[in-house]
Amino acid sequence: MSPTTPRIGFVSLGCPKATVDSEQVITRLRAEGYAIVPDYDNADMVIINTCGFIESAVDESLQTIDEALQQNGRVIVTGCLGSRAQMIESRFPSLLAVTGPQARDQVMQAVHQHLPAPHDPFLELVPKQGVRLTPRHYAYLKISEGCNHRCSFCIIPSLRGDLTSRPIDQVLDEAQVLAAAGIREILVISQDTSAYGVDCRYATRFWQGQPLQTRFFDLARALGQFGLWIRLHYVYPYPHVGDVIPLMADGAILPYLDIPFQHASKTILKAMRRPGSRDRVLERITKWREICPELVIRSTFIVGFPGETETDFEELLDFLDCAQLDRVGCFTYSAVEGAAANALPDPVPAAVKQERYHRFMQRQQVISARKLSARIGQELTVLVESATEQGFVARSYADAPEIDGLVHIDGDQRLSVGDFYRVEITAADEYDLYARLSK
Ligand code: SF4
Repeated sequence: MSPTTPRIGFVSLGCPKATVDSEQVITRLRAEGYAIVPDYDNADMVIINTCGFIESAVDESLQTIDEALQQNGRVIVTGCLGSRAQMIESRFPSLLAVTGPQARDQVMQAVHQHLPAPHDPFLELVPKQGVRLTPRHYAYLKISEGCNHRCSFCIIPSLRGDLTSRPIDQVLDEAQVLAAAGIREILVISQDTSAYGVDCRYATRFWQGQPLQTRFFDLARALGQFGLWIRLHYVYPYPHVGDVIPLMADGAILPYLDIPFQHASKTILKAMRRPGSRDRVLERITKWREICPELVIRSTFIVGFPGETETDFEELLDFLDCAQLDRVGCFTYSAVEGAAANALPDPVPAAVKQERYHRFMQRQQVISARKLSARIGQELTVLVESATEQGFVARSYADAPEIDGLVHIDGDQRLSVGDFYRVEITAADEYDLYARLSK
């Protein structure tokens, strides 16, 4: 890096969708010759991509802004929290600029205004697949923005608007570039993956001479042709989700579905403004498992939603027992500024929320431990994530990065990070598996 290269510190907070926004801004910055540096002290300016989804994320974003202002002083704020510009500007009047989510052009304008680009735009070569914030072997592929639902606890639609799907040919072009760059796993993300294409009425596009509809199934099938691990996240539980299960059974895409069910009680789902009949969901899960027995289902739930009674909560625990989900995350409900749920009566006291959270986790731990111990003796393909003092950690098809468990591989063999290996499972606990290399 030349001493005159303008240097930008970049902090990316929030979910994988925000990570993709950050990657796009960083790619543009690098293409224009800016350098990205890992600390505040050596940066000429700092950009913070914030998250504003729940109160703890807002706090983390505000703390990060404060820290960057103290240590650097020249700060641009963007991302979800940026949509509350007034609040941020009144709290931090010395910020250079505040822009909202997906405001990539405005971020670039603010950068140009306060830190002009170098004259030679080719000072830094940007890889064709763009700059990725994830490890070299996996990448998030964002297929749409926004959401047509109006879940009462969520402000995403007011931050990011209604569903807008990327044309299927563009998504596949990006996947192809990722495959050519050596990526092993693509994680498909959006706010609502199974609604892909609803907004453009499933428009037909052409990709490499084949007509394809901008549709969940067509996308999953086409992605399956790349020979990579394809993992589907944020799948809303519509009936047509079942269409992709045969693709999983055939090995075209990973037998893994991330479906945030959020709750199981009819009353609470109604208050959340989410569809879903417990019995129908259970029927569907049973059918999917008949077609694809290896299917792993991950989900998230909220406990302590306003109005949740002990009976509602018991219904949720009963759902866990019946559904036997593989991976489960749980949050205690917390109000989000601007969310419709804030107006609901009967808040659940904090102590009750905590108590339900622990009961929920205990119930699921038993299920998870049983499911994982059933894997002892099985052979699995794993993707190596990193080296540790004891050996290596890897993930199987059942583990998404960051949110699920790991497979710990003991031994002194040298494995390559980002490569696939076959392992034999030797032990398990509530979250992780332990393995040795297959002979
Ligand atoms: S489906 Fe509901 S929770 Fe998910 S982004 Fe849309 S409104 Fe928010």
